[in-house]
Amino acid sequence: MTMPALPGHIWWHSAVDAQNHLYVHDEGEEPEDGIYEAACEKLVIRDKLVREEYGSYCHDCLLKLGQHQAARLEEHFDNYVSTYDDSKSAQDKAP
Ligand SMILES: [Zn+2]
Repeated sequence: MTMPALPGHIWWHSAVDAQNHLYVHDEGEEPEDGIYEAACEKLVIRDKLVREEYGSYCHDCLLKLGQHQAARLEEHFDNYVSTYDDSKSAQDKAP
């Protein structure tokens, strides 16, 4: 099972707590201090970071992903509402 990730993020496995976390991922960019910060703000040192996705997923990171998706849907819905013809919907609702 694989999860979708946020744009510019990737799911990686942390050997610290044996869970997948969502990390910012810039191609070829490594943190200078070798410490990676997950979306849930948990830190992991390079040696404990497995660049694969397996096992269980971090709940807080999943939540971040869900919030992002919800925000995108809301944005989409707002656009939809603002272009909707109100006069027509009023007609539709008339008895
Ligand atoms: Zn996490």
